[in-house]
Amino acid sequence: MKAFVDKDLCIGCGLCTELCPEVFEMDDDMLAEVIVDEIDDADADAAEDARESCPTEAITIE
Ligand code: SF4
Repeated sequence: MKAFVDKDLCIGCGLCTELCPEVFEMDDDMLAEVIVDEIDDADADAAEDARESCPTEAITIE
């Protein structure tokens, strides 16, 4: 599985980085970015939680 953040939608709330720091970090512009090529199975549930919790639906997981 891969995660993507649409930075045009991200408002920098930081929720995804709190819920799943293994996959998401804040960049220098305080917008979320994905820091792994593939999501580990162990992090899949947390990444999905982050996707569902994002207030602007900026996160996509495929
Ligand atoms: S939860 Fe959504 S809006 Fe908040 S930092 Fe993450 S991608 Fe951006």
